[in-house]
Amino acid sequence: MKKIGVLTSGGDSPGMNAAFRAIVRTAHGLDIDVLAIRHGYKGLINDDISKVTSNDVSNIIQRGGTVLKSARCDEFREPEGRAEAAKVLEKHGIEALVTIGGDGTFQGAALLAKEHDINVIGVPATIDNDLVGSDETIGYDTALNTAMEAIDKIRDTADAHDRLFLVEVMGRDAGFIALETGIAGGAELILLPESLTDIDEVKSSLNKVLSEQRRSSLVVIAEGDETGGAMKISEALKPDFSKYEMRVCILGHVQRGGNPTARDRVLASRLGSAAVTVLKEGHSQVMVGVVNNKIKLTPLKMTFGKKKDINFDLVELAKMLR
Ligand code: ATP
Repeated sequence: MKKIGVLTSGGDSPGMNAAFRAIVRTAHGLDIDVLAIRHGYKGLINDDISKVTSNDVSNIIQRGGTVLKSARCDEFREPEGRAEAAKVLEKHGIEALVTIGGDGTFQGAALLAKEHDINVIGVPATIDNDLVGSDETIGYDTALNTAMEAIDKIRDTADAHDRLFLVEVMGRDAGFIALETGIAGGAELILLPESLTDIDEVKSSLNKVLSEQRRSSLVVIAEGDETGGAMKISEALKPDFSKYEMRVCILGHVQRGGNPTARDRVLASRLGSAAVTVLKEGHSQVMVGVVNNKIKLTPLKMTFGKKKDINFDLVELAKMLR
């Protein structure tokens, strides 16, 4: 293995830069050249590629976002687009492609590998933590902490005014962020895409909490909650909770940004480095993950289409601590 390419794709997540740095530095130690592909699959098709050295990745471990830039690329969803991408890889003599991203990125990578016999490796980076094959994904811990800090601040103002706050966090299909920030932020109620939301149950739980002389209350809602998120729930609650001042706060993209936490930097460094060493050992078409604190390889095709379970012990804990 003499030359690899690396790209970041899909939604950005804090720690992608730390992973890129680890890939470049590990490859340098193993005498492997690294070509940086900017703007994800779009940049690959458009040949937005240049060589990077160890020095080029100095001073990026602490930065959020991705210096490689990310993009969504509809062209790559089509066989013709992937054929273009394969041609560009061949032109540069790239022997393996390291993709840093989420399940969509890996679906694309798996198709590229199958159709054009290209070695690919996936490095899981998404704030949603929804990838099978790694206990945590790069960016999740930072997003949790960002959301928790926001919830702490909202609670201060909720308490000052005896308000009922509905806080919506990211998680279209998965409730990992909502569940853990809800517990960490002491939410009275947590609504997840994984469990059916019965609005009458929400009302009676809230009534119970509010009647126990707690005058401010905080509900954390995953954006993919089946009732349609915080705005819809607020509409449904309004008639019965008119005596409380109700406010909705949608945290949105603030959860994607910021400097990665120490935990995310270490995870990204481990996974980025492992991506190169396993390639050198002859593995490909796999995602590198950390399971029970050990590096684990999962076939790429097993990382998408299958839902990663949330920890139902935590769901029970949240109910107990209401
Ligand atoms: P996140 O979930 O954090 O946003 P992701 O990697 O799942 O990350 P997507 O936007 O789903 O983000 O995918 C990134 C890119 O991967 C897409 O823009 C597209 O180019 C490619 N891709 C996604 N799904 C497929 C697919 N089914 N076939 C081919 N390419 C795909």
